[in-house]
Amino acid sequence: MTILRIALPIPKRQLFDYSYQGQTPELGCRVQVPFGSRTLVGVVWEIAEQSQWPENKLKAVIKLLDTQAVFNSTQLKLCQWLASYYKHPIGDVVQTALPVALRKGVANQQKLQQYWCLTEQATKLELSELKRAPKQQALIETLRHATMEKSQVNQDFGSATSKALLNKGLIELVEQSYEDGEPWSAQIKISEKPQANVQQALAISSIEAKLGEFGCFLLEGVTGSGKTEVYLQAIESVLLRGQQVLILVPEIGLTPQTVYRFKHRFGIQVGVLHSALTDNERLEVWQQSALGQLGLIIGTRSAIFTPMLKPGLLIVDEEHDSSYKQQDGLRYHARDLAVMRAHTENIPLVLGTATPALETLNNALSGKYQHLQLPVRAGDAAMARQQVFDIRQQPLEFGLAKGMLERVALHLKQGSQVMLFINRRGYAPALVCHSCGHVEQCHSCNKPFTLHKSLYKLQCHHCAAAKPIPKRCENCHSGELTSQGVGTEQLEQGLADYFPAYKSVRIDSDTTRGKNKLDDMLNKINNNEFQLLIGTQILSKGHHFPNVTLVIILDVDGALFSADYRAAEHLAQLITQLAGRAGRAEKPGEMWLQTHDPAHPLLQDLINNGYGHFARYALLERQQANLPPYSFQALFKAQALSARDAHEFLQQVADFFSGAEGVMCLGPIPALMEKRQGQYRMQLLLQSNQRGLLQQALNQHVGSVEALPLATKVRWSLDVDPQDF
Ligand code: ADP
Ligand code: ZN
Ligand code: ZN
Repeated sequence: MTILRIALPIPKRQLFDYSYQGQTPELGCRVQVPFGSRTLVGVVWEIAEQSQWPENKLKAVIKLLDTQAVFNSTQLKLCQWLASYYKHPIGDVVQTALPVALRKGVANQQKLQQYWCLTEQATKLELSELKRAPKQQALIETLRHATMEKSQVNQDFGSATSKALLNKGLIELVEQSYEDGEPWSAQIKISEKPQANVQQALAISSIEAKLGEFGCFLLEGVTGSGKTEVYLQAIESVLLRGQQVLILVPEIGLTPQTVYRFKHRFGIQVGVLHSALTDNERLEVWQQSALGQLGLIIGTRSAIFTPMLKPGLLIVDEEHDSSYKQQDGLRYHARDLAVMRAHTENIPLVLGTATPALETLNNALSGKYQHLQLPVRAGDAAMARQQVFDIRQQPLEFGLAKGMLERVALHLKQGSQVMLFINRRGYAPALVCHSCGHVEQCHSCNKPFTLHKSLYKLQCHHCAAAKPIPKRCENCHSGELTSQGVGTEQLEQGLADYFPAYKSVRIDSDTTRGKNKLDDMLNKINNNEFQLLIGTQILSKGHHFPNVTLVIILDVDGALFSADYRAAEHLAQLITQLAGRAGRAEKPGEMWLQTHDPAHPLLQDLINNGYGHFARYALLERQQANLPPYSFQALFKAQALSARDAHEFLQQVADFFSGAEGVMCLGPIPALMEKRQGQYRMQLLLQSNQRGLLQQALNQHVGSVEALPLATKVRWSLDVDPQDF
């Protein structure tokens, strides 16, 4: 009999012992085990000679699900590191790292794939016979080089094309395993590419020099400076060595062109991992990558867990993007995990962005990362000129000053597009009674309801609560209810009324729900079907708007005076990203920032000296304030129906840490969002000048925290390197 120590999806920082009869399985195999009255799927994590429990108390494994481990040795190590660094239950780490289908116990076996290939008849065909059907001609030509998977044909040529050729007896379907197909390494066909400029060439050769060993690069280059081209040429070298490349991007829906660009350059299939995939589709990409059947894999945050048989290079694009940090469960940062992964696999990692996160910039400036810079524009993009617009004592119409409306009119008249950015969805952030001043509030969150006129309701943006728009004040029954402040909906309506001759479009999470909806909108914008573009954060990500010559950010003050010390960094990134995505060389744009504090030093630094200068100054400020990246933080959060329980729990946590060497304890204090969905929220911040000391203290006490009686009464979490407070 063997004792297997299993990582189970149970929120406890421990492994669970089971007995097993039979040949000892590999570490990383899945098993089915009894747990209480349930049956769970877990992963064999350790093999033990003996258990602390008597043998007759041990339950037996029900079934071994794999003959070969689902995790390779790199993944086992990374999971171990995640559990240890983030102090997170190993079973939950393992769950996060596994595709959903495997968590559920599905067999880890590749299905047969259907491929189109040419019939005997087609090999004799003169291609010119199909010249009236160019798509069919192209497909035949493609299939002369290699067979092609059915779904891939549908994606690239449309199913009508294959059907027509099938009817003509020119192609047929065969079932094959991936293994039997031609490997991607034999299919690579590099399409035409630009000659790298001097800076690009330097960056590419620096990366190439590190292939086969660990190294981190910060590739800092303004939008349009040719970062993607650097990736492409570095990837080429890796692929030609027969090795795989994993690329992380913030959001795939926003970058279908990027995926296309990679596919087109190398002529091979690209594995794409995003949230809209079914569990089975996700598993297929995972398996293909693990078996080395894919050369290129592109995905969002969780794609960092995708195993590779022959890893060669990791790339994190837009590395500053906050979507790389998971905000619940295992609160890992995919960028930091990428560093660990590159280290474990002994391969280089490229972090690319126009606006590096201060953490990353600090690592580059201190020499920990190699700093590659692309200061020159490669293509035809142009940076919009940035200026502040003083709105003190100015009447605002739907959030815009008169002077701004005049600029909008001017640019529209010139046939350009105008982009307006506001960080609030809905019509207005509050509904106020004009008679008594009462504000309609969500009782679960103690925050004003957002008014959504087009949906005829009030909605809380912090929980799911919604209700019809009231006709009278709850408090004094007056009928004079007025909206306060401006959201995207009101701005759009105002502009549509003010500029009836032009068409407007609103891009926020309310209007872009649904498959391909955002992609459709973006295409229409690039076809000039809309002239006024109104939106939130989404506008700043990934997409280029060559015909936009005016960008207005309605309100930058919120971020300048925020209690979150990262707010200014995020605002600067947003402004710079927006400025870089509008206009082009012969049609450069202008950008206006509406503010009540036009002389604010951060704003002035940013618009006059650029993000790079701003960021170095912001780092200096962080250093003086002893904030990350110059200190290290961990945040305990607790929430409960009673504020007293949450506070009491964190007070007990604070008591554990109060004597810890080199660790400062701040709190417990109410969270920025004090109440949410009826729960009171408190937090306790730990900070240290040395990562090691903080880790040591956490190691020492997290077990005791978990064992506190109140720990089962409140909902608590630990966030190491928190990004949000
Ligand atoms: P980034 O990723 O930094 O935004 P891209 O790599 O997308 O920049 O490059 C912007 C544009 O410039 C693209 O159209 C690209 O094809 C083009 N480009 C990039 N490098 C070169 C080069 N060396 N010569 C000519 N055009 C280039
Ligand atoms: Zn009232
Ligand atoms: Zn609410």
